[in-house]
Amino acid sequence: MVFKAIWLEQASGVTQASVRELDDAVWSDGDTLVRVEWSSLNYKDALAITGRAPVVRKFPMIPGIDFAGMVESSSSGEWQAGDRVVMTGWGRGETAFGGFAQKARVKSSELVRLPEGMDARSAMAIGTAGFTAMLAVEALERHGVRPQEGEVLVTGAGGGVGGFAVALLARQGFDVVAVTGRPAEAERLRRLGARDILPRDAFSQPGKPLAKERWAGVVDSVGSHTLANACASTRYGGTVAACGLAQGMDFPATVAPFILRGVTLAGIDSVYCPAERRPPVWQRLARDLSAEVIDAMVEVLPLDRVIPAAQDLLDGRVGGRVLVEVR
Ligand code: NDP
Repeated sequence: MVFKAIWLEQASGVTQASVRELDDAVWSDGDTLVRVEWSSLNYKDALAITGRAPVVRKFPMIPGIDFAGMVESSSSGEWQAGDRVVMTGWGRGETAFGGFAQKARVKSSELVRLPEGMDARSAMAIGTAGFTAMLAVEALERHGVRPQEGEVLVTGAGGGVGGFAVALLARQGFDVVAVTGRPAEAERLRRLGARDILPRDAFSQPGKPLAKERWAGVVDSVGSHTLANACASTRYGGTVAACGLAQGMDFPATVAPFILRGVTLAGIDSVYCPAERRPPVWQRLARDLSAEVIDAMVEVLPLDRVIPAAQDLLDGRVGGRVLVEVR
């Protein structure tokens, strides 16, 4: 069986990416073979393909942290040929072969059945970004953040996680304020449900340990000073969901918001989110995201265009999500 894939190799510490024809001899494990129909280009994939950060833990690697498609065969007993499935995380594209390939061999436990009414294209338009945004929204809800308590903030809103967080929070009736460094994204963010837009540099510079209390909750995909300033301006008893590090991995903050205002910092991880938590999250995504929201989030590229698009994504030239047509 021959299939097309993106192939990453490393020579003298430099990552080299190419599109290759591979065969099934490349796999050493996995009990379930999936015909990948759609994948998506995430921030982490862009770091892997460009080699800008050490996302890939072993070479050679097929990158791609998520995919959706159809089961072709499985020895697990859990899946039948023809089942429609989605996969996110579990180290795919980092420690194990991922979704930028026409075929993927994975562990049966890594797959989630596509919810009723969701096709593989929509699943990957949502992808890891939408899944993560829903985990963040659920974290705010779990910590008691309710729409009547005031404004919620979404940082990195022009990106995948941020855009879906805006849409999901607005659908729950929250008053959403979106932060973006790209004024050109403002109109799209309003269509997704943001009531107000703030500039990125209002958050990205060093700030005070405590600022005026404003946010009942925050979904942050940016980290660094932005996360610190978001915590400093969160209201008494509010919750900040930390999802990402697009500005930086550092967290130059003080404990003041936590010990003086009872602010909760909730960590969000989609990669090793327990298997049993995933199906209800996907079912809620199917219910809460309309076709209009999904369409407003995506640009579609063929597999052959993913390598140059990775640099565009890191350079801030991509709004929303890059959906990758693999089949
Ligand atoms: P995107 O590239 O789609 O979005 C990131 C957004 O962050 C950009 O669109 C931009 O928004 C903003 N941004 C970029 N650079 C900077 C900067 N220097 N300072 C401030 N803001 C910046 O990525 P994703 O949405 O896919 O991922 C966002 C983050 O979340 C990444 O760090 C990713 O690794 C992480 N992530 C974590 C997951 C988890 O499980 N915890 C899962 C998925 C992603 P704008 O132009 O609007 O300002």
